[in-house]
Order: sequence, then C-alpha cells, then structure tokens
Amino acid sequence: MNRPPYVLEAENVRVVYPGDSAEVEALRGVSLSAASGETLGLVGESGSGKSTLLKLFNRLVEPTGGTVRVRGEDVSSQDPIQLRRHIGYVQQEGGLLPHWTVSRNVEMVPWLLGWGEERRRARARELLEMVGLSDEGLSGRYPRELSGGQRQRVAIARALAADPDVVLLDEPFGALDPLTRGELQEEFLRLKSHLGKTMLLVTHDLEEAFLLGHRVAVMQGGRVHQVDTPEALRAAPATDYVRSLLQRADKAWMQRRQGAGA
Ligand code: ADP
Ligand code: MG
Repeated sequence: MNRPPYVLEAENVRVVYPGDSAEVEALRGVSLSAASGETLGLVGESGSGKSTLLKLFNRLVEPTGGTVRVRGEDVSSQDPIQLRRHIGYVQQEGGLLPHWTVSRNVEMVPWLLGWGEERRRARARELLEMVGLSDEGLSGRYPRELSGGQRQRVAIARALAADPDVVLLDEPFGALDPLTRGELQEEFLRLKSHLGKTMLLVTHDLEEAFLLGHRVAVMQGGRVHQVDTPEALRAAPATDYVRSLLQRADKAWMQRRQGAGA
C-alpha cells in the first residue's frame, strides 16, 4: 500500500511514565501525522502530553505502545544520536548551554557533524542574522547576558544550524512578553514560508497555534481531540472540549481588544 508522504507519524501511541508513587499515562493512544513542509501546531493545557509527544520523534521518550515514524521509518530502528543530529529541536525554556557562548551554542550540531571551524562560524553568523541577531558583539556573549527574546532567537538559530528538514519546537515563545512574542511570531512566519521544513510547534495558546500552524492538533489529558486546519476547527469543533477552547480564546481576544481601547 502506498502511504502519503508523511514525515512525522504517530500511530496509536501510548506513553506511561513510571512515576514516584503511581504510573502516569502521559499519552493514551495518540495518532497524528505531519506532511512534508507542514507546520503542525500542538495545543493543549499544561500536562496534556504535548512535550511527551514531541520528544517521541527524537527519541528522548520511548513509546510504551504504538509506532512512531520519522521520514517513513520506525524510530525504534533509527540510531537516536543520528536522529537527533538531523532533527532541529527547540527545548521548552530554550535549553541553551549556559557556559557556552552564543556562537558555540549555535555551532553545536554542525560541530557534532564534524564541520570545520570556518564553515561553522560562517554558518552561525548566517543563522544569527536570519533570526534577526546580526549584532557582531552578540555571538561572543553568554546566554545569561541576553534578553529572553534574544535567547529564544538563539535557540531557534541553533535548531536550524545544520539545516535539518524536521524541526521540533516546544513552546518557543512561551515565556516572552506580548510584544517580543509578536515579533518572534512574525519572524517565524517569515522563516516558515521560505524554509519549507516539516515542523511540530507546541504551544498552550490556541491563537498562536492558529497563527503559526497549517493545521492544529488539540490535546487534552494525553489524547488528541481533533487535528484540522484553523478554519475547519472553527467551523466544526469535534468535541465539547474543542468548542470550549475556542470560546475561551475568543473571549481573551475580545478582552484584549477592549483593554487596548479598540
Ligand atoms: P505538557 O508538555 O503538555 O505540559 P508533558 O508531556 O510534559 O505535558 O506531561 C504529560 C504528563 O506526563 C504530565 O502529567 C506530567 O506530569 C507527566 N510527565 C512528564 N514527564 C514525566 C517524567 N519524566 N516522569 C514522570 N511523569 C512525567
Ligand atoms: Mg511541555
């Protein structure tokens, strides 16, 4: 049988964490897939299993049941180190190494891949520029010497450094003030349109998921309620939970507009 060209696929995946006192069933039979070049938003409240789902694709988490495929191949038959070198990953909270300079952080995967120093440096400069950080002095700084927005830009540059065709982003704009967040979202849209990568983007904000994703998966309690385009989700919410999420997002939007005096 010919399968559609999905780059990322989860099929009936369960994840059970051992836990201290009792087991935690973080994913309870999740199926979804992202096509080549697609940005799939994963939205859900804290604890719904978004990070767990993301980490299945670079084998930071192993499924208890079900199948996870990357580029059509079961991840359990792929070397985790190799896999991670060819998948960009923006961890929740950025995950920059604090004792490494900005440049060294961005050069990490190219370095692991054995690129020469000159090529790495040039690539880091190019990437920092691409994410809006062309300031020369910045590449020698340490993460703590950057603003939150700059740190997230560096984390994105690092994820893209070796030009992976797949990128996983875990709440990349989560901890930012609204203004900086808006700027980074704009930047992301620009990158998305000209890089053509397959991306999974986790957020707890439905509005952000609608803005950035081609399609959006709504998660709750380790399950996926619906995977659809923003238009289809709005037109036909599949469950009461999706409907309530849409209502809450609309209410928040109205309140912001009123707050802004519109
Ligand atoms: P989200 O990213 O949506 O906030 P997570 O995937 O981080 O959700 O967590 C889903 C559930 O699994 C939560 O109940 C969380 O407490 C639990 N969990 C996550 N990671 C671990 C872990 N390493 N060990 C035990 N439980 C975990
Ligand atoms: Mg998370």
